Amino acid sequence: MYNYRCDSCGAYLDPGERCTCSGTHEKNLQMVDELLSEEQDGQMMLKEALENGTHTRLRRMEDYPSG
Ligand SMILES: [Zn+2]
Repeated sequence: MYNYRCDSCGAYLDPGERCTCSGTHEKNLQMVDELLSEEQDGQMMLKEALENGTHTRLRRMEDYPSG
């Protein structure tokens, strides 16, 4: 019985499989930080949307299921 898990996110992996989160997670966070602006109420909004006047609210990262 295999029991491989990602050290970073805890996702279950097949033997020899490398989780795609490794190395990309920090990049994604940085990219998100560049693209999004956090409102006073904690909602993340696209800076592009703000500039265009389109208030497209995005779900926060924590709302997405991990793994
Ligand atoms: Zn992972």
